[in-house]
Amino acid sequence: MYDWLIVGAGFAGSVLAERIAVDRGERVLLIDRRNHIGGNAYDRYDEEGLLIHQYGPHIFHTNAKQIFDYLSRFTEWRPYEHRVLAEVDGMLVPIPINLDTVNKLYGLHLTSEDLEQWFAERAEDVGEIRTSEDVVVSKVGRELYEKFFRGYTRKQWGLDPSELDKSVTARVPTRTNRDDRYFGDEFQFMPKYGYTRMFERMVRHPNIHVMTQADYHDVKDLVPFRRLIYTGPIDEYFDFRFGKLPYRSLRFEHVTLDEEWHQSVGVVNYPQTYDYTRVTEYKHLTGQKHAKTALTYEFPTDEGDPYYPVPKPENQALYKQYERLAEAMPDVWFVGRLATYRYYNMDQIVGQALATFRRINETLPIGSGFTMPRRAARIPL
Ligand code: FAD
Ligand code: UDP
Repeated sequence: MYDWLIVGAGFAGSVLAERIAVDRGERVLLIDRRNHIGGNAYDRYDEEGLLIHQYGPHIFHTNAKQIFDYLSRFTEWRPYEHRVLAEVDGMLVPIPINLDTVNKLYGLHLTSEDLEQWFAERAEDVGEIRTSEDVVVSKVGRELYEKFFRGYTRKQWGLDPSELDKSVTARVPTRTNRDDRYFGDEFQFMPKYGYTRMFERMVRHPNIHVMTQADYHDVKDLVPFRRLIYTGPIDEYFDFRFGKLPYRSLRFEHVTLDEEWHQSVGVVNYPQTYDYTRVTEYKHLTGQKHAKTALTYEFPTDEGDPYYPVPKPENQALYKQYERLAEAMPDVWFVGRLATYRYYNMDQIVGQALATFRRINETLPIGSGFTMPRRAARIPL
């Protein structure tokens, strides 16, 4: 008998497996229907020996020291500040839009102060900012919105930015200085030996049994367990009772080129051209030295694995219906990007999992008769 069945071996499931096994000393069966652990952060070496991210570029960034410290138990880090260029009007310019973006695109020599004025002259008064269109046009005006955001967003989501919640494009800031980093967070790192190595160290524990290529629907009636943590899509758990929750998917095209470098930064975005949204060159992220180079092209689609919850008011309302069902099930804990239908980054998911662990401890104090704690020593890292 397992104390816990945990469905999904991504960040949400793996962090909870680790916490429960180590701190509560309870036995966990951690399953995933894919043939590997790590969820969407899974990375692997391709046939040429280049480290690639199977599900698109994953860059770790956070302002939460507690989350960084927690993950540091399982990996060393490589400092990496992510930089992205966008191909706009045939030029490669920095995104997030900054002083250099505007000067290069328009052949100007503005200062930061000039640029503030320049934006103010173009910004539209939209009243209350509700949509992803409002966020951008109210800051930089319609022309830059059209060049950088409208086409990319329509490709990525199959929706116009005016149909998407403001939180989507609000992920990308606008700057009037020359800072060209994609993220402004205090901690920006890549796991030194990759995400998969980090996950392996996280779940390597005598109290954790890992089973891949195992779907919840097949396992649930075969293996006895006391409580459940579920990190898959919440609508699927409830057999789509209220209808399907939209999740946006991607098709990844991984290619290896017989040249040392292909582009000058980790990611190039294509808001105006092609069916793909962006191209990633992994060696910038991983620091790997290799005579060849590996790239991933991302083609957005509605079919395939669920990757992104789609932030729109009606989807949120549908999710709330499922959430009410979930709240009525005290022995099942719903955690993660798919189960809580939140467009969260890795650090936010780790934070959510650690918060869930605290709630589990409050609800089920160790030694409360739920199970006898079996504390096993951690395998040293
Ligand atoms: P997942 O990683 O999706 O894990 C859920 C797991 O559950 C999956 O492995 C799935 O196979 C399994 N599962 C589902 N249903 C079942 C079932 N019935 N039975 C068994 N197993 C099941 N975040 C960042 O911080 N930085 C980035 O740069 C970044 N880039 C991203 C790029 C892309 C293209 C995508 C899609 C996401 C990116 N993210 C990034 C977000 C990051 O991937 C997520 O925040 C994180 O992986 C979510 O972890 P999770 O455990 O909630 O979900
Ligand atoms: N976005 C855009 N143009 C860009 C970059 C981002 O329109 O060059 C918009 C788009 O809607 C995208 C959102 O901003 O989905 C969030 O971008 P981010 O890079 O955070 O997306 P993710 O890495 O999560 O796919």
